[in-house]
Amino acid sequence: MTDYKKDFPLLKDSQVAYLDNAATAQRPLAVLEAEKAFYEKYNANPLRGLYELGMEATDRYEKARDTVRDFLHAAKSCEIIFTRNTTESINLVAYSYGLNNLKAGDEILVGIDSHHSNLLPWQMVARQTGAAIKFLECEMDGSFTDEAIENAVTPKTKFAAVTHISNVIGRVNPVEKIIEKIHGVGGVVLVDAAQSAPHIPIDVQKMDADFLAFSGHKLMAPMGIGVLYGKENLLNAMSPFLTGGEMIESVTREGAVFAELPHKFEAGTVNGGGAWGLKAAIDYLNSIGFEAIEEKENALTALAMEELKKIPHVHVIGSQDPKEHNGILNFTVDGVHPHDIASILDGAHVDVRAGHHCAQPLLAHLGVMVTTRASISFYNSEEDVLRLIEQVKNIRRLMG
Ligand code: PLP
Repeated sequence: MTDYKKDFPLLKDSQVAYLDNAATAQRPLAVLEAEKAFYEKYNANPLRGLYELGMEATDRYEKARDTVRDFLHAAKSCEIIFTRNTTESINLVAYSYGLNNLKAGDEILVGIDSHHSNLLPWQMVARQTGAAIKFLECEMDGSFTDEAIENAVTPKTKFAAVTHISNVIGRVNPVEKIIEKIHGVGGVVLVDAAQSAPHIPIDVQKMDADFLAFSGHKLMAPMGIGVLYGKENLLNAMSPFLTGGEMIESVTREGAVFAELPHKFEAGTVNGGGAWGLKAAIDYLNSIGFEAIEEKENALTALAMEELKKIPHVHVIGSQDPKEHNGILNFTVDGVHPHDIASILDGAHVDVRAGHHCAQPLLAHLGVMVTTRASISFYNSEEDVLRLIEQVKNIRRLMG
């Protein structure tokens, strides 16, 4: 298996088996260097300074936007809005689209597998507009059946918030099918791609998503840069989310004329270094290629799952087919709290996440309160996975 750890300063000489990639990824040197280069060579306030350095900063920022456009296969760069993260991207749509377009009598369809970030904004919209939230329910293996989709969508479904890959289940959801169905009743769909963007290719035009959100930090970019894709006609018709500098054409005592897309949605000083780092992260991912990424992640996930399944009292949540997990493995161990599991694993330098994973309605639906999550990236090694397995084997004995 190709060793990618050499590209990651934090991992290359470390004994840590970092298996919390679904929470945030590690950064390759190329990303750290790009962010540093932005501040060392091009730093000025992007979109403002008319001097050479200011234009260099603007140029880097807009090049980053073009790279994201290509990464998502969007039609135009103006459909790419830089935000802080997925959460902010979804809130932008909730405040600017949801509050102004939804009303009492409408239904907002939310996948039961949603991260809280893709549920709470819609609960807020429902409270403020009188629209009703309806859940698209999954099976115990996390799958959404055609029947569930068919039954959940009604002529009242004016908006749907769905997840491409859940941070608990790991499988790729049939978002194209859901989008087609919702479009059939005249609704609009937002896709949360926080977990899919780092693992599988995304084509917003093929998918026909109206909005799609992801976070840079899960994709090896710096923290504090995120993306919202939106169809140009929808974004143009929306009012700004945040107001202030940078997002205006002109201002008078009475009011303002807002800037064109995408700047209408990027109020205040932007994250130039973060955007340049995100460009470097996408370039790095592209240099490896999603085919190689998927192959390595699937192989490591299969190894982890096979071995976990051999251990008595261990239960993997969701599908029992490793190909359906995209590196995300949630499991329980009978009689042992996930916080104890995570602490024991930490003792062996295996980093995993324990808790409800910001998906409490999903866990309640699946009948579990909390789980332990090992999430694998292509830069993990077989040794990382085997160390996890060795420790999990001993957990019940260690707990007495
Ligand atoms: N959506 C999903 C599926 C996630 O896994 C996460 C983070 O774990 C989020 C949204 C929120 O991402 P962020 O905290 O970067 O906004």
